[in-house]
Amino acid sequence: MAAPSQDLMSTMVSLCKRRGFIFQSSEIYGGLNSCWDYGPLGVELKRNVKEAWWRAMVHSRRDIVGLDASILMHPKVWEASGHLAGFTDPLVDCKECKERFRADHLENLKKCPKCGGQLTEVRKFNLMFKTFMGPVEDASATVFMRPETAQGIFVNFLNVQQAARLKPPFGIAQIGKSFRNEITPGNFTYRTREFEQMEMEFFVPPAEDLRWYNYWKKMRFDWYVSCGIKPENLRLRDHSKDELAHYAKACCDVEYNFPFGWSELEGIANRTDFDLRQHTEHSGKSLAFFDEESKQHYFPYVIEPAAGADRAALAFLVDSYAVEGEGKDARTVLRLHPAIAPIKVAVLPLVKRDGMPEKAEKIFADLLKNSVRSFYDHTSSIGRRYARQDEAGTPYCVTIDSQTLADDTVTIRERDSRAQYRVASGAVVAAVTEKLKAAIQ
Ligand code: ATP
Repeated sequence: MAAPSQDLMSTMVSLCKRRGFIFQSSEIYGGLNSCWDYGPLGVELKRNVKEAWWRAMVHSRRDIVGLDASILMHPKVWEASGHLAGFTDPLVDCKECKERFRADHLENLKKCPKCGGQLTEVRKFNLMFKTFMGPVEDASATVFMRPETAQGIFVNFLNVQQAARLKPPFGIAQIGKSFRNEITPGNFTYRTREFEQMEMEFFVPPAEDLRWYNYWKKMRFDWYVSCGIKPENLRLRDHSKDELAHYAKACCDVEYNFPFGWSELEGIANRTDFDLRQHTEHSGKSLAFFDEESKQHYFPYVIEPAAGADRAALAFLVDSYAVEGEGKDARTVLRLHPAIAPIKVAVLPLVKRDGMPEKAEKIFADLLKNSVRSFYDHTSSIGRRYARQDEAGTPYCVTIDSQTLADDTVTIRERDSRAQYRVASGAVVAAVTEKLKAAIQ
C-alpha cells in the first residue's frame, strides 16, 4: 500500500528525525530556516549517494577526472560568469503580512496569495552570499560563497587538462558545497540555502556537442534508475527556448515526481564555449585548448550534468518509502537500493545469553573487518529489531538463534521479500558481500 502523497512529506520529515537521518539545524535554538543536519543514518546515505555518483562519473571511466576547488574564489570569477550581474530572482514583498514571494511563481502580481494584501513592485535580488576576506570589511575585501561548483572547474580547465594530459572529449567532476540565498527555500531538503552539488563539465570539440548532450541525458536518467529510483517517477523535460539560461544552447532537467509535484533533480546543459571564453576575456589568460593534431587552438563546448546530492538523497528516501501489510503484519520499510542503504547488514542475537552474543560478536567483527557497513543490536524483541532495520532501509539481517548453537548456522533475512534462509556462520561474510557486489555493480 503506497502512502497518501499529501502526507508523505510530513511523514518523511518525522521518520528522518526519529531514525536519525535528518535533523533541523540548531534545533534547540528554534532551528535555522532551510538548514538541515544529517544524522548517523543520513550522513551514510548521503555519502553513498556521492560515492555512487563518483563511481559512475569518475572511477568507472577513463575520460573523466576529479577536482576539489575552494569555495571562495577571486571575485572576478563571478563577474566573468555573469553571476554578479545576472544571478537574480524577481522578488515582491507583501506590504501587509511582510511575506516575500518570487514574482515568477505568482499568477497575480497585485495581490498577496497569503493575506490578500498589496504587493510591492518587482525587485531584483542577487542570490549570492557575500562575506569579507581578512580583517577589513570594505568593498575591496568582498568575496562570495560560490553559488555553483562549476566555475572552479572552468578556471582550472587548462591546469587539469595539461597536468592529466587530456584531450577533448574529456570531463572534470567535482562534488562540493554551494550557497544560494534562495528567496523561497522549502520542501524539506529540496531547496535550501546551503547544499551540495555533484557537477561534471564535459569538454568536447564544438561539432560533437549534440551527440554528447544526448549521451549525457540518457546516462544521467539511467543512473537514477540504476540506484533504485522507479522509472515511472522520473522524466526528462527539455527546456523551451525562453527558459534557457543566457549561456545555454540547450537544457534538459531530470525531474522526479516528488509528493509536491514533478521537480528538478538535475539539469543537463549545453553551455557552449561561453564560460571558457568569458574567463579568457576577463583574466587576460587564454583558456583555449591547443590541438596537437591540427596545430590549432580552439574553445571546446561544454556539456554539463549538474546534480544535487541533497535532492537526490531526498528522492531516494521518498521513492523507497512503503507501508506494507495489515494489522499485526503491517510494517514501514525503506526499500533503498543496497548501494544507497546506510547500513548493509544488521547482526541480531536472538537473546543475550546461551553464547549467542559471542557468536554474533564474531560475525559482526568479521563484517567490519571486510568493510561491510554493519550494525549490532541485541535490545528488545526480534520482531521490533527487524522493524527498526526495515525502517532504516537495511537490506539484510543476520540472526543468531538456538539452532546456531547446535549446528553453527544462522538465519539471513532479506528486507524486501522477508525471505529467511540459513547459512553456515562462517559463510555469512561471503554470502552478503556476494549479494551486495551483485546489486552494486
Ligand atoms: P532550481 O530551478 O530548482 O532553482 P537550478 O536550475 O537553479 O535549480 P542548477 O543551477 O541547475 O539548479 O543546479 C544544479 C543542481 O543543484 C539542481 O538540479 C539541484 O539538484 C541542485 N540545487 C540547486 N539549487 C539548490 C538548492 N537551493 N537546494 C538544494 N539543491 C539545489
